[in-house]
Amino acid sequence: MNDIGAPNNVEHLLLSYYAMERLQDLVDQEVSTNGQVDLWPEHWDDAGAIVVWKCLDCDRLYLNAKSKKEDVVVYKIERKGIE
Ligand SMILES: [Zn+2]
Repeated sequence: MNDIGAPNNVEHLLLSYYAMERLQDLVDQEVSTNGQVDLWPEHWDDAGAIVVWKCLDCDRLYLNAKSKKEDVVVYKIERKGIE
C-alpha cells in the first residue's frame, strides 16, 4: 500500500464538522487577504484534518497515516450493517 502519485485511491482526509468550519475560516481569511488560495496543504493540517489510508485489498483504515509508525492507528471491519 502506498500513496505515490496524487490523487490516488488510498489516501483520504477525515474532517470533523468543526475542522471543516476551521478550514473554511482559514480559506476565507486568505481569500480576503490576497484574493487567491495557495496554501491548501497547510490549511488541511491547521484545520485538524486526519490523514487516512484505506487498504484496497482488505479495507483496513490507517489513521494518522503520515505520523510515526508507532502512532498510526489501524481499524479493521468488525461487521457490516447496524441493527
Ligand atoms: Zn490490507
